[in-house]
Amino acid sequence: MVDGIDILVIGAGVIGLAIAERLSRSGRQIVVAERNESFGRETSSRNSEVIHCGMYYPEDLLKTRLCVRGNPLLYERCEKAGVPYRKTGKIVVATDDAEVGVLEGLLSQGRRNGVPGLRLIDAAEMQRLEPRVRGVCGLLSPESGIVDSHRLMTCLQQAAASRGVTFGYRCDVRELTKTASGYLVAMTDADGAALSLNAECVVNSAGLDADRIAQSAGIDVDIAGYRIHPAKGEYFRVSSRHRGILGRLVYPVPSPVHLGAHAVLGLDGGLKIGPNSISTVRGDYSVDPSHEGDFLAKARKFLPFLEAGDLSPDMAGIRPKLYRLGEPLRDFVIREESSRGFPGLVNLVGMESPGLTSCLAIAEEIERFLVLRAPRA
Ligand SMILES: Cc1cc2nc3c(=O)[nH]c(=O)nc-3n(C[C@H](O)[C@H](O)[C@H](O)COP(=O)(O)OP(=O)(O)OC[C@H]3O[C@@H](n4cnc5c(N)ncnc54)[C@H](O)[C@@H]3O)c2cc1C
Repeated sequence: MVDGIDILVIGAGVIGLAIAERLSRSGRQIVVAERNESFGRETSSRNSEVIHCGMYYPEDLLKTRLCVRGNPLLYERCEKAGVPYRKTGKIVVATDDAEVGVLEGLLSQGRRNGVPGLRLIDAAEMQRLEPRVRGVCGLLSPESGIVDSHRLMTCLQQAAASRGVTFGYRCDVRELTKTASGYLVAMTDADGAALSLNAECVVNSAGLDADRIAQSAGIDVDIAGYRIHPAKGEYFRVSSRHRGILGRLVYPVPSPVHLGAHAVLGLDGGLKIGPNSISTVRGDYSVDPSHEGDFLAKARKFLPFLEAGDLSPDMAGIRPKLYRLGEPLRDFVIREESSRGFPGLVNLVGMESPGLTSCLAIAEEIERFLVLRAPRA
């Protein structure tokens, strides 16, 4: 590890990697500290890998703006860099008349958000597009798709490294202390030995532990509203006999805070159902096999071809939520902390979905804070 650097990025998930890659274009000296042995070992490799279009949330939220901007940026990057992806499109399915109003609301919201191409389709068109899906009507989103998130992260990591970014793996950041010129960062290495580093600016993109990092700098996370309440999302794998049965992503109508367990398409044609949303503790990636019946019952409403025995436990991811289950939705927090007395510290907290879709747009945002801003006095 080097000392006296310009920018330390904490966390090599897809967001930290996208930020490091973007900032590396400025010629600044950048280090990424990651506690695991490699990049993308936490939330960024445990998700649906869906490129969202940005229709779900109100237009004034940061997560909406960054998703709508991030969607085309991500397709463009995948195309240029050879990252596997597919613009599959997606159908949100209303299974009874009561759900049609929800779809109409989603269509209006998506249009207000600037999402291109959204339209309602009737049962006959849905039958033509996805013959194995059942519903009274659907909302078609042509700009939704899927991406190989590991290949995306590999591409971002390699591009950053090729422009001189240093990656310190098995470096666990413990504490940030404000100094006259930036931050003294205390870490431990793979053997538990103490390390330290001075950085003028720090980007806290530590995912599930972003609240702890902010706290270590001296920010009261309860007053700031940064406390993370981890929420697990489990997935069940669909029997390979149904491989290739769907051509598009297929979702139920969403609840106010959850998109609902949906059909997750893999680039290989494989199918999963998930995720649900349950309170958990950091590090618990277990999948409870007893949830199979609930997944099956919910999915069969719009995927009637599923039968008992078709689902088996697959994997789980953990959302870094800023609210408890049942509480109102919160926006992404992306904040440069000068007003709290921490200039040059940028906290990213609550970076749940659509964080993967938004990663390149988030990186642009951080560039505006740290590179394009006026120099600090
Ligand atoms: C079930 C589920 C489904 C999802 N589906 C989608 C989807 O389909 N589309 C979409 O756009 N988004 C989706 N998301 C959201 C998306 O996965 C996340 O927004 C994104 O991966 C967050 O990236 P990140 O880099 O912030 O976090 P992470 O990937 O968690 O990276 C944070 C990194 O920080 C490191 N770290 C933490 N503490 C320290 C420390 N003290 N010192 C050093 N390193 C540290 C961790 O080891 C980790 O590598 C989903 C999320 C979940 C949980």
